[in-house]
Amino acid sequence: MTVTTRFAPSPTGMLHIGGARTALFNLLFARRHGGRFLLRIEDTDKARSTQEATEAILEGLDWLGLTPDEPPVYQSMRAEQHKAAAAEMLARGTAFRCYVTPEELQARREAGDAKRAAAKADGLSDEERAALRAEADALLAPFRSPWRDGGEPPAADAPFTVRLRAPDTSEITLKDAVQGEIRIKAAEIDDLILLRADGTPTYMLAVVVDDHDMGVTHVIRGDDHLRNAFRQICIYEGLDWDVPQFAHVSLIHGPDGGKLSKRHGSLGAEAYRDMGYLPEAINAYFLRLGWSHGDQEIFTLEEAAKVFSLEGINKAAARIDFEKMKAVNAHFLRLADEDRLLSLLMPHFGDGSDLSADDIARAKTALPILKDRGSTIPELAEAFSFLFARRPIQPNKKARKALRGEGLDRLGALGDELTELEDWSEAALQTCLEAFCTAQDLSLGQIGPPLRAALTGGLPAPNIAPVMYWLGRDETLGRIGDQLTAAAAPGGEK
Ligand code: GLU
Repeated sequence: MTVTTRFAPSPTGMLHIGGARTALFNLLFARRHGGRFLLRIEDTDKARSTQEATEAILEGLDWLGLTPDEPPVYQSMRAEQHKAAAAEMLARGTAFRCYVTPEELQARREAGDAKRAAAKADGLSDEERAALRAEADALLAPFRSPWRDGGEPPAADAPFTVRLRAPDTSEITLKDAVQGEIRIKAAEIDDLILLRADGTPTYMLAVVVDDHDMGVTHVIRGDDHLRNAFRQICIYEGLDWDVPQFAHVSLIHGPDGGKLSKRHGSLGAEAYRDMGYLPEAINAYFLRLGWSHGDQEIFTLEEAAKVFSLEGINKAAARIDFEKMKAVNAHFLRLADEDRLLSLLMPHFGDGSDLSADDIARAKTALPILKDRGSTIPELAEAFSFLFARRPIQPNKKARKALRGEGLDRLGALGDELTELEDWSEAALQTCLEAFCTAQDLSLGQIGPPLRAALTGGLPAPNIAPVMYWLGRDETLGRIGDQLTAAAAPGGEK
């Protein structure tokens, strides 16, 4: 038996982050067992499915590195197989033709509601109330069709649906790898529709037939499908097919424990990309959110694929924690290849045409240090922004205060020293700064603020010698000169 898993999204929107995690679990389980990870686009709901959504899902999976092992299967292309399975069930007597019309079903529901309301009226005896309730319960119970044991059609051309003949047994058992063993009464299952009156298959039938035909051995999906599993088990049994191993994974909750809202991260994978997360960080964070293995907090896909198991999936819903997600992202930013980081950072500095080769060279030199100074790409971009500022830069309010009086005089004197400096290496710059301080009887803390103000405009920057080194001689001296000139100009801050 080749372990085969699948991710089966309905293409009605982007790749939701919860769906992305489901896909990840399916991929890891297949990898762990040397099996196949498949993708099925469940596009039978023509009114809600779109081509854009299909593309967004494929793109999202691709971005996350969760590419399926085979081209996707489109459920809408498989209607013939679905119909054949329904025919097979008719032949086996596990399905039947039902001539109850939608109007009759509607009338049944309304009668049930009316009885239920009547049971609440004043002035009834206990017996009368109990009798009305029992009638209401019978009318509102899962539907068992009067045609389930056959019978003559009302007319030769009467329209019919094909329904599952729900089991008469007392209980249906689901052995779920995450939720454990769950039993429900067979009476809770209705004679559900397999083929509609127009001959189109329902979702419930299509899922079972597709999973069977694709050889799916393990169905790992959100626990919003838990109740469907019981109905699907009845269909598997009606076809005498093996029931796959189910694993229903708890949904992701918001930080407050409530349903995940948009504000709290109920977003598409592309929204996380746009917020500056790396795909490997999203995988690592959402993996750990619902699964654990020992004490290890951060896994790469390769590492997780070696140890992933369904037993490690948490039964309880997990709460999203953005601070933790950012910390995981920071971890992967540090590991990221420098050219890749640069290509992610550059779009934050205009369309690229306004960056010179010098700018890019500068960014490259600064990267090993500056990449520690943010947890997302936009935060890193902020840390890099002083490198690409255009002269004359405009210092912020706090920085302007450092560019007055003594601070300005010291900056001027240091500028003269730097002009004389021949070796513009980081070490030489550091030595020059220290020698300047000794000669002038200053501490580094007295020259740092005006120098940083002139070079970065007041943005927090790491040590100042590397900043001068990254900017280079011309840019450093130019930025210092700009502030001296501005201060000397009429209205300047001298
Ligand atoms: N198409 C269903 C959904 O997007 C998933 C069905 C399944 O995984 O069995 O919720």
